[in-house]
Amino acid sequence: MAQRRRGRSEALWQTARMLIPGGVNSPVRAFGAVGGTPVFADHASGSVLVDVDGNRYIDYVMSWGPLILGHAPPAVIKAVREACGRGTSFGMPTAGENELAQAIVNCVPGIEKVRLVSSGTEAAMSALRLARGYTRRDFVIKFEGCYHGHVDGLLAAAGSGVATFAVPDTAGVPAGYAEKTLVAPYNDLDAAAAVFDAFPGQIAGVIVEPVAGNMGVVAPAPGFLEGLREQTRRHGALLVFDEVITGFRLGLGGAQELYGVIPDLTVLGKIIGGGLPAAAYGGRAEIMDALAPGGPVYQAGTLSGNPLAVAAGLAALRELIAAPPYASLEARAAFLAEGLGEAAQDAGIPVWQNRVGSMQTLFFADTPVTDYASAKTADARRYARFFHAMLARGVALAPSQFEACFVSTAHSEEDLERTIAAAREALREIA
Ligand SMILES: *Cc1c(COP(=O)(O)O)cnc(C)c1O
Repeated sequence: MAQRRRGRSEALWQTARMLIPGGVNSPVRAFGAVGGTPVFADHASGSVLVDVDGNRYIDYVMSWGPLILGHAPPAVIKAVREACGRGTSFGMPTAGENELAQAIVNCVPGIEKVRLVSSGTEAAMSALRLARGYTRRDFVIKFEGCYHGHVDGLLAAAGSGVATFAVPDTAGVPAGYAEKTLVAPYNDLDAAAAVFDAFPGQIAGVIVEPVAGNMGVVAPAPGFLEGLREQTRRHGALLVFDEVITGFRLGLGGAQELYGVIPDLTVLGKIIGGGLPAAAYGGRAEIMDALAPGGPVYQAGTLSGNPLAVAAGLAALRELIAAPPYASLEARAAFLAEGLGEAAQDAGIPVWQNRVGSMQTLFFADTPVTDYASAKTADARRYARFFHAMLARGVALAPSQFEACFVSTAHSEEDLERTIAAAREALREIA
């Protein structure tokens, strides 16, 4: 095993920390959960990322989800180059926005009309504003461990009991914002029902990751999504699926198609931007028409529907639509998970793996992980050691136990075999 060179990453990290808070523009990149110096990326292609010191990694971070076709897929790069030549932003509508909207409407069962924005955070924030404006109600229900971007009111943690007001989960969020959010445990329909009962006629919507990816991967328990559909319908609230990760990852129609549960509103991001900043929210036309300029709910964006982001997203979606890779992704991800599971068993290390399609998490936990509380039983210190042992062997996993690893169409069988071989060594080392 060659020692990883890190001189340039170290130097850039020293400078970054003087100029940028915490040295990074998004916290998880700082390696806070695993320690050590972050890897500074230089370039990447397919499954392989090369850092500024020339180290090569088989990458499973994949920009945290957008890169289902791997790094720098030729069709996306070509589309962005062409779009660039025509100008970078117009502040006027473009044909490309219609084409991307059409592709989304064609694929996602719950979307009849869609509004493009620039980040998943913005999309989730706007979807909830719309849910509140449309229902004329103030409260929303979210689930513990689900992440919907850094929306003020959603950075909320459960209060002292189910069906009580949430409290801010970060400095800078007024208690009054967090109080409009009610937090229930993931996969717990009874808890959600109790919240509905405690706030009759006041719940605008329920927002949920239909497959959770931000506490590590956690699948919905059988009946959970169906139950939320039934509860929201009964109480006149909107069901909002945050499919920022799952959209176009679990299938062209996302988790809603996979599980056959159609939400009122869907939040998209990541894959639909093809690696550039684009996101969207959409739903039934009658709800979406409550948005400005036609309706009373305001939402806007200087760079919304940006032509480069639209070109990248459209090129990515066209590749997926032309040859849906989901069966092959499923097979590859299953192969990887099986290999990792055997390697852990052979090393005598208890693990629990959750996987839905090409998103997966290996938890260093000896009991099933079904919600945030059980995810937190995982041994994050052991994960940190595993992470570094893998990095040293040329495999880049997410730098936190509580994140997903992503298999892309660019991960070859050889990549997966090399990853499993690396994991065998790494797990033995940390046993
Ligand atoms: C990444 C993510 C977001 C936030 O998207 P950004 O583009 O980072 O603002 C929202 N919801 C989910 C489920 C995500 O994984």
